[in-house]
Amino acid sequence: MPLHIQTPLLESLALSRAAGTQVWLKLEALQPPGSFKLRGVGLACEHHRQRGAMRFVSSSGGNAGLAVAHAGRSLSVPVVVVVPQTTSARAIELLREADAEVIVHGSSWVEANALAQSMVEASDAFIHPFDDPLLWQGHASMIDEVAAAGLRPDAVVLSVGGGGLMSGVIEGLQRAGWDEVPVLAVETHGAASLQAAMAAGKPVAIEAITSIATSLGAKQVCDQAFALSQRHPVRPVQVSDAAAVRACRRFLDDHRLLVEPACGAALAVVYDALPALADFKRVLVIVCGGATATAEQLARWSAELPG
Ligand SMILES: *Cc1c(COP(=O)(O)O)cnc(C)c1O
Repeated sequence: MPLHIQTPLLESLALSRAAGTQVWLKLEALQPPGSFKLRGVGLACEHHRQRGAMRFVSSSGGNAGLAVAHAGRSLSVPVVVVVPQTTSARAIELLREADAEVIVHGSSWVEANALAQSMVEASDAFIHPFDDPLLWQGHASMIDEVAAAGLRPDAVVLSVGGGGLMSGVIEGLQRAGWDEVPVLAVETHGAASLQAAMAAGKPVAIEAITSIATSLGAKQVCDQAFALSQRHPVRPVQVSDAAAVRACRRFLDDHRLLVEPACGAALAVVYDALPALADFKRVLVIVCGGATATAEQLARWSAELPG
């Protein structure tokens, strides 16, 4: 039995009306730790457990860390997560509630990650947040479920951080024989590392992350995501933080699900009926989720952000 659950796939009247086209939702927000990450992380953790790993080590204060904590709990393997001082109290609380040992270290992820790496012993497994073929293989299972349900979308809308989700979804599309189904790859303006790589024609790092959508905050996408953007129809789309937050709040009213702005970015493409959708009649949105935002935080962002 995999550690993730099979998620609902449903047609959204509210989003279909907003977009003026048929919109289907894959509700990854319902995975127990709150995001799609459990699919890939769960598969990776099971793999390492079977090979004798005695501890899982992560350096993500976000949804990847939460997925590792959940997997460790399910497999009775201890988990340690090293997070930077910038990590929210909420995220640390969620990690501790899931029985992870949390070590707060360094002013940014780079320092936290360096300490985490230095702690990895021979009997440990380090679980990367987005750059690992096992993760992509696990994430691909969400498209297997869509295909098994008999739904063939003519476009898939998803958010991109480090590109693990996109790599997994494209793996799933290819497995289903849907090589020509385009992916609308959505980033916020201050975290557009995929679009930077596609513009440069090679994986490049952007200078800084300035978006509140911290789960999209990878300065450089993994090589696999860039390589797939050259082999599969991938259309990069950018939205503002304000649009992402607005989409989260509308989605909370429409579907009673609270998601992070990282997920709101993909929803914003639909709610704002962006031109990127114009060619499509049946759109699948990956509702990737995210557990680290609260309704109160969303309200604060929307008061603070311009537009
Ligand atoms: C991790 C994450 C993303 C981005 O996924 P990548 O694999 O890093 O591209 C998007 N949304 C949420 C909620 C996430 O947790």
